[in-house]
Amino acid sequence: MELDSLYQEVILEHYKRPLHKSLKANPTIQVQHINTSCGDEITLNLHTDGKTVQDISWDGIGCSISQASTSVVSDLVRGKSIDETLAIIDAFQSMIQSKGADTGNEEVLGDGVAFSGVSKFPARVKCALLGWMATKDAISQSMTK
Ligand code: ZN
Repeated sequence: MELDSLYQEVILEHYKRPLHKSLKANPTIQVQHINTSCGDEITLNLHTDGKTVQDISWDGIGCSISQASTSVVSDLVRGKSIDETLAIIDAFQSMIQSKGADTGNEEVLGDGVAFSGVSKFPARVKCALLGWMATKDAISQSMTK
């Protein structure tokens, strides 16, 4: 897999020094997501008051793409409103499923744009999406709680 070298560095940095990778106690909701095609697994704890993402912490094992991507989303959406968070996740999902057509808006996605090149590798799309879909799932479950 060939990615832009700057972007590759961003991904590697998040993989080596993942942010918020240590489950915090008493979450509003806990979800577990796995990507069987690659063997990636994450557990994600969401703290929310129903309006804002107060905290996200997680733990997991798997490939560098899945772990780095979860690190990015856990840092990017903390403190943001639920609506804003869902919009950011949608933007990431569109980019990652665009097969290279959508390179992402850094103002919206932050370090998430580093994964834009992954959209050209269908086998890795699920890896990149894992943490983002877990976050979305945790939010929707917290709403119905
Ligand atoms: Zn993977």
